[in-house]
Amino acid sequence: MVGESSAAKELEAAGLEVPKATPGEAQAPKAELGADEYDIVVIGGGPAGYYAAIRGAQLGGKIAIVEKIEYGGTCLNRGCIPTKTYLKNARILDNLKVAAGRGIKLSSSEFTVDMDKTVDFKNSVVKTLTGGVRGLLKANKVTVFDGLGQVHPDKSVTIADKTIKGRNIILATGSKVSRINIPGIDSPLVLTSDEILDMREVPKSLAVIGGGVVGVELGLVFESFGTEVTVIEMADRIIPAMDKEISLELQKILSKKGMKILTSVGLEEIVEKDGQLNLKLNNGEVVVAEKALLSIGRVPQLEGLEELDLAMDRGRIKVNDFQETSIPGIYAPGDVNGTKMLAHAAYRMGEVAAENALHGNTRKAHLEFTPAAVYTHPEVAMCGLTEDQAREKYGDVLIGRASFAGNGRSIASSEAQGFVKVIADKKYHEVLGVHIIGPSAAELINEASTIMESELTVDDVAQSIHGHPTYSEVMYEAFLDVLGEAIHNPPKRK
Ligand code: FAD
Repeated sequence: MVGESSAAKELEAAGLEVPKATPGEAQAPKAELGADEYDIVVIGGGPAGYYAAIRGAQLGGKIAIVEKIEYGGTCLNRGCIPTKTYLKNARILDNLKVAAGRGIKLSSSEFTVDMDKTVDFKNSVVKTLTGGVRGLLKANKVTVFDGLGQVHPDKSVTIADKTIKGRNIILATGSKVSRINIPGIDSPLVLTSDEILDMREVPKSLAVIGGGVVGVELGLVFESFGTEVTVIEMADRIIPAMDKEISLELQKILSKKGMKILTSVGLEEIVEKDGQLNLKLNNGEVVVAEKALLSIGRVPQLEGLEELDLAMDRGRIKVNDFQETSIPGIYAPGDVNGTKMLAHAAYRMGEVAAENALHGNTRKAHLEFTPAAVYTHPEVAMCGLTEDQAREKYGDVLIGRASFAGNGRSIASSEAQGFVKVIADKKYHEVLGVHIIGPSAAELINEASTIMESELTVDDVAQSIHGHPTYSEVMYEAFLDVLGEAIHNPPKRK
């Protein structure tokens, strides 16, 4: 049981508000817990679930976690980490292309990608990280159950023939690949991201159905491995959630690299012919490919939750700002609530759910300044509002831009491509959005997130000093450009 006074101290130490009166069922009652009873039973060991379990244990709770496949969830096993392992291989191949021009002579420009080795290496990376999560859970004295957790309305959970009970339940069951009902979509040649990451061959051609983050990243991987890639996207540009200027720039760069990108088209039917797929589009065009990747998005995973009468919103579990569902004492952080389907957002939601489950609803998730990145070459990243969203909300806004083309480190690294765009409010110079296409964008964007979370203005950032030579000087210059003071930009016309 969580001792009330020590829990309050822990909360204070963590900078959290100590609730004066905590709401009913979400608060741990004072009675002792039985052997199979827990303060929290977490269902799912992905980013939301394992963060929730460890945070709950840090706060002194008796915690159990149930995972049906492998700890680390989609992110470590079939998502973030496997794709980034492959993208590193793609980056190595890109680097080989610039080697000769930089004075490194290779005896041949020929290469082959050994997919057996590639998959095995990826698996070894995954194993290291998933083993780390198990180790952390153990070190934090979280009780681990392997198997599908069937959750009952009285907050008991059955795992095979074992039943445990939680005072609170955290449903962190994540998401699975979304499917579409199109003739031919069930062909074994149409793969999901789960399947393509275990494919032990490089296909000659690949049609990517859906030009979102997953489709574009995996499309780029196989394009770099030597596959002829065609992306089929319904919207008028790839990754439409990104700032328009940035996503059009990425589209231009990827097209130049050799990726065929078809936009504003829908897929009507897939026909398998002579071992190839014929993907019929609604503009009459037919894309012929050896394999296809279905990457149109993800939907919540609800297996094991059937008995719960939860309020839902378009197939996602509805939660409030405290990550609590319509049933008091049952929380649902991460992809399963569909708010922001990103691993680091799931981490935050998981932590917040655990704190609220143990101590009453005191902490909100605040996901407004969650950074998002696409690990293409060059990388793309964003935080806050796009230009269209900012103009819609604030009317006239200030825009600052700076290019990597004139940046010392970028030129020295043969990566002088892309730009940073800062969007700010006209009156107070409040930072509304930061968008980057360029080297290490996924790293640089975290500075923007800190700036926005800390409510620093453009003028505050202008007072900072950024090291030289670094990519982040471009970020700094983009902030200066909002004020018309960027040293490396041509003077702004008044
Ligand atoms: P999940 O990671 O899906 O974990 C849920 C877990 O619950 C799973 O392990 C599942 O087996 C288990 N489970 C489900 N039901 C039960 C049950 N009843 N009993 C027991 N266990 C159960 N995000 C990023 O931020 N950066 C990236 O670069 C990135 N790349 C991605 C690339 C791909 C190809 C994909 C598919 C996703 C990517 N994501 C990325 C998204 C990221 O993986 C998810 O946002 C994140 O994993 C969500 O975490 P979660 O804990 O909510 O769910």
